[in-house]
Amino acid sequence: MAKTKYVYFFGDGDAEGDESMRAELGGKGANLAQMAKAPLSLPVPSGFTISTDVCQEFYKLGRKYPASLNAEVEKYLAKLEKSMGKKLGDEKDPLLVSVRSGAAISMPGMMDTILNLGLNDKSVIGLATKTNNERFAWDAYRRFIQMFGDVAMGVEHAKFEAIIDEVKSHRGIKQDTELNVEELKEIVTKYKALYKKEKGEDFPQDPKVQMWGAIGAVFGSWMNPRAIKYRELNNIKEGALKGTAVTVMAMVFGNKGDTSGTGVCFSRDPSNGENIFMGEYLMNAQGEDVVAGIRTPQKLAQLEETNPKIYKELCTIRSRLEKHYHDMQDMEFTVEEGKLFMLQCRNGKRTGAAAVKMAVDMVGEKLITKEQALLRVEPEQLDQLLHPALDPKVVKTEKELAKGLNASPGAGSGQIVFTADEAEAWANEGKKVILVRKETSPEDIAGMVAAQGILTSTGGRTSHAAVVARGMGKPCVSGCEAVKFHNANEVVIGEKTFKKGDNITIDGTSGKVYAGVLPVVPATISGELETFLGWADEVRAKSVRTTASGAKVKGFDVLANAEQNEAPQAFKFGAAGIGLCRTEHMFFDPAKLPSFRRMILADSTEERKEALKEILPLQQKDFFEIVKTMEGRPVTIRLLDPPLNEFVPKPNADAEISQLAKDLGKDEKSLKVKIQALQEANPMLGHRGVRVAITYPEVYEMQVEAIALATADAEKKGIKHDVRIMIPNVISVNEFNRVRAQAEAVIAKVNAEKKLNLNFQIGTMIEFPRAALTADKIAEAADFFSFGTNDLTQTTFGFSRDDYGKFIDCYTKGNLLEEDPFKQLDPEGPGALMAIAEEKGRSAKKDLHLGICGEHGGDPASIALCYSIGLNYVSCSPFRVPGARLAGAQAVIKAAAATKAPAKKPAAKKATAKKAPAKKVAEKKVATSKKAPAAKKAPAKAAAKKAPAKKAEKKTTAQKATAKKTAAKKAPAKKAVAKKAPAKKATAKKTGKK
Ligand code: PEP
Ligand code: MG
Repeated sequence: MAKTKYVYFFGDGDAEGDESMRAELGGKGANLAQMAKAPLSLPVPSGFTISTDVCQEFYKLGRKYPASLNAEVEKYLAKLEKSMGKKLGDEKDPLLVSVRSGAAISMPGMMDTILNLGLNDKSVIGLATKTNNERFAWDAYRRFIQMFGDVAMGVEHAKFEAIIDEVKSHRGIKQDTELNVEELKEIVTKYKALYKKEKGEDFPQDPKVQMWGAIGAVFGSWMNPRAIKYRELNNIKEGALKGTAVTVMAMVFGNKGDTSGTGVCFSRDPSNGENIFMGEYLMNAQGEDVVAGIRTPQKLAQLEETNPKIYKELCTIRSRLEKHYHDMQDMEFTVEEGKLFMLQCRNGKRTGAAAVKMAVDMVGEKLITKEQALLRVEPEQLDQLLHPALDPKVVKTEKELAKGLNASPGAGSGQIVFTADEAEAWANEGKKVILVRKETSPEDIAGMVAAQGILTSTGGRTSHAAVVARGMGKPCVSGCEAVKFHNANEVVIGEKTFKKGDNITIDGTSGKVYAGVLPVVPATISGELETFLGWADEVRAKSVRTTASGAKVKGFDVLANAEQNEAPQAFKFGAAGIGLCRTEHMFFDPAKLPSFRRMILADSTEERKEALKEILPLQQKDFFEIVKTMEGRPVTIRLLDPPLNEFVPKPNADAEISQLAKDLGKDEKSLKVKIQALQEANPMLGHRGVRVAITYPEVYEMQVEAIALATADAEKKGIKHDVRIMIPNVISVNEFNRVRAQAEAVIAKVNAEKKLNLNFQIGTMIEFPRAALTADKIAEAADFFSFGTNDLTQTTFGFSRDDYGKFIDCYTKGNLLEEDPFKQLDPEGPGALMAIAEEKGRSAKKDLHLGICGEHGGDPASIALCYSIGLNYVSCSPFRVPGARLAGAQAVIKAAAATKAPAKKPAAKKATAKKAPAKKVAEKKVATSKKAPAAKKAPAKAAAKKAPAKKAEKKTTAQKATAKKTAAKKAPAKKAVAKKAPAKKATAKKTGKK
């Protein structure tokens, strides 16, 4: 068997690796190799890189190296020594090296680096003589002991600092550069004594021992808490990378006096994207001096004045590197006695604003194509452009009080208030407030509008607070368990107690909560963003794909979930229509709420109808406003969805009930009984959505009439309209047909009255497994499907969308689930059901229009899944629309690239494309995650196999039988319901009396 190659050389104008070997050499090693060889041929000190495979082996073998590594490193060290004409540990002219970390994805500052390795008590003298610079040699030695002691051997950094500070203060000097040779020697002696005291052995004098110690420290730093946290925060999954590589590289010295120096620079401004060369440098210094902030670095522009030759050289390298990598570069350089060396280059990290500007500029400069530009920006980065954000400089130093779910991005500061009424009242007085609540309910809307942001102690990403806040573009941190309520005027956040009126800041982008008011930087929508998103729209519009059902789907639109006051924002952000107008939010308008409550609490059908009559013109006006705003784009209005008890006071809210009884002119006691009767054990699975229309048809009838009248108004005023009616919570075609017939009767009545011939598409949400599994039947009756993936996730997983926050971390962090399924659509659960619904639905109706309006519609990975399933559109809250426009385009580009790339298993792919939507989805997931175990894929495969309509029909019949059995078994429950029905009886009696 051929021996595995673990070590790769670079230097002397050549290299064994190149930039394509990031996975093996890490970003640093791969780019050093690329810079060293032609065509770039930049001045790079020679060195070798030990591959990430060794890191992987190191951990597999219990922190030991593969057997062949030692000999290979020896061989490459000899090669390096030859290249440099010096030997490690040579007492007269020692080779010194740096030992550096570098993973395939850059993790700046997270892992270890050791400089000046190879010095000992003898070679330091040789170095001093050879360089004729005693100060430099001793300075390098003290640096090395400190770095090796701290990084490789765990001697506390502060203990070294204390020694150097003591020597400086003794002489009354401030800067390290002012230390003279004698003082540096004294420091070295003291450092070595400290090392011996702490480690119980002498500081190693053998350079090979030093080198292996440093290599071990770098591999070990892959698993240090800082690096682990960084990967967690940046969603770099365990197993996605092989680990860090280790680069051993000849030292070049920036601390050899005033003709030497070191610096970092960016080929463009990473904060705003301006095409200017910027950076910082320090003369007579080593890299860590710039990072440590002991001396204030100078701006790169000053180098142009002080050392025009080096500056010019750097400018040339800047443009060559950009042309080569087609991206902004972050570079490290050292100047040793007037000669420039490049120590590193990588694609630079950048803000969202900078990412967009650079992408657009580089297309203009013909550096990249539009497609490449679209792949350059993370959809989440666009959030930064749309919401005011915390000043990043402040975030670095400020410690948070607590952390919850980052439910809606952006930052907000203000005085704490605990009720929506307070929020409104204080805001009316011109105060900025943060609404802090256990959870919010639709009643809190006005307070949420008035607040700068919302913080809740419970609730997930699809909780009321989260959904509404996102819709409004308000920052929200939800499910923050460290928020504890003591009494009506006090709350404990983390370990600190706050009273009503105290200031806090929330960061909905990170989920963090801070004390006091922190500075924010405002949102800017620049011309570049418009251009950029225009390209994304073009790409999506042009896309054509054949789905698992065999349907040819053109385009991939982005719509918004919005009500009338959010529609203008949705329009501004480029939504191609409204995919979900949640009518219930409108009922919390103070003008409508009393009538709506009267409707819910009516004692008779007549009373209910009277109340509905009051609401009708108000809803009609709202609908008209949306239609007008959207200028002929589709407006999908969903009929009433949530459980009715959400709209009335809680049964124990005596004062509120008493007031409500007065307002409604009702008896307080019987009102309380009625409210009690509206309570349910599982409201999300209870009397909600279409089931309300089955029991009280007049509710949807009123809403349909309001829609038809609003559209009639638009028609008469010459306003373009495309209004669609959507029924929520449907589980059977019979249920849908019943409601459709009622809606059509109302539309016919309005048409007759208005002498018009208005037509409305009437479609359904697919948000329960049964609806997905009977999609072929429902598709015969429905004009369109919109996947309500919040409920579909809830009912597929059996996780309550309002309570799952308590345990989800144990699943995602404990490797039981890869992602929070309410955040990212699970391809094996709800995703597989969607694929089945697509295939079944379009088998019954070839051109059935499909979309998604659950929260996943704004999540990039979920958007890609929706594209692969064959949805016509995604719909999400207005502030997520720009990100979704981009994510959709990226899905199109990546899918096209995947079909163009030589298929690994073409035969299997073909079969998959036609018959197995769920499998296709599962495969995609596997492609993006190396971790997905085979067992996990099995259910999706099984689903895919069973997907053909006929088999599924059989399954449905079987399910019916099971359902019947279950129902029979559950019969006592019915009785219980009957028993529990005093409220109804009471109502009937009361009505009878009346
Ligand atoms: C859904 O369930 O995905 C949906 C959009 O409806 P809601 O969140 O209003 O229940
Ligand atoms: Mg729903």
